[in-house]
Amino acid sequence: MTDAIRIDDISKRYAGHVAVDRLSLAVPAGTIYGILGPNGAGKSTTLRMIMNIIGRDSGSISMLGADPAADRKVLRRVGYLPEERGLYKKMKVLDVIVFFAALKGVPEAQGRTQGREWLERMGLSEWENARVETLSKGMQQKVQFITTILHRPDLLILDEPASGLDPVNQEVLRDTILGARSEGRTVLFSTHNMDQAEQLCEHVCIIAEGRKVLDGNLREVKRSHMGNRYEVEFERESPAIQEQLRPGNGTFTTVTALRDGTAFELELSRGADTHTVLGVLSRIDVPILRFARVQPSLHEIFVQRVTGAVTPHRRPEEAHV
Ligand code: ADP
Repeated sequence: MTDAIRIDDISKRYAGHVAVDRLSLAVPAGTIYGILGPNGAGKSTTLRMIMNIIGRDSGSISMLGADPAADRKVLRRVGYLPEERGLYKKMKVLDVIVFFAALKGVPEAQGRTQGREWLERMGLSEWENARVETLSKGMQQKVQFITTILHRPDLLILDEPASGLDPVNQEVLRDTILGARSEGRTVLFSTHNMDQAEQLCEHVCIIAEGRKVLDGNLREVKRSHMGNRYEVEFERESPAIQEQLRPGNGTFTTVTALRDGTAFELELSRGADTHTVLGVLSRIDVPILRFARVQPSLHEIFVQRVTGAVTPHRRPEEAHV
């Protein structure tokens, strides 16, 4: 699989403060890739360096096979949604869409037709002749998203795309990102929202304090952080459950009741494995509905890895998730 973006060892320093510190990552073509981290981690700075909005101090970047600092043409094949949103407020909605499409080489008539299609898809048809400033923030954000995607870029780079969107519009955004991917486009987006990343991304890179904490295929990242926890659910309650699921009997270190008395999370003792647990469960006279190893959520992995990685010299408000 080729990489849509390859970053090697890039750094950015602001007045003695390192915003991005020797970061390397690769975004496989045709995938959805999430760059994750707490506020101030360096996500926007990284995306801005990829877009060549700010220069890097060192390292190399290859985007769709070109270095955007040397070859500006490659940016035409990219749709970028900046973190600081802003459209020309006095312009009419459809005109602003046509204007941005023209900047990316889309002829006016085509921009107008496709702009209308997008406005319809986003539920904004009635607003095409309204001035941008009369739209709500969420609506303006959807219009800005249309300006990012209308020219059918091979690569979408979205900086915190969901921030400021209500749940319904977040759903629209999600569908659009998945739609772009199913058309073979690559999507790189930043977020501090782990649940959102978990729903969308095939690959992730977690950064904190400008440094990479981990990266890789999401499924593999989850597998490599799998602990020794299992969840079991029985068809009904039974005294045998309490008898067998006792912590400190050599099999379990903790037994946590979930919901009513029929579902439990089991943390295994050192040396115990699936077979040991199944041996214990076979002594219980109630049918088992479910038995599965607990997968850590991305949020759990994030907290576990980032808390370990964040050093106390940062101001607390910069480290919050
Ligand atoms: P994120 O997008 O992950 O929230 P940013 O990339 O915006 O993080 O910021 C990373 C760090 O760089 C922060 O500590 C931020 O204060 C600092 N920073 C970002 N832009 C500038 C700038 N133009 N001047 C000085 N410091 C900056």
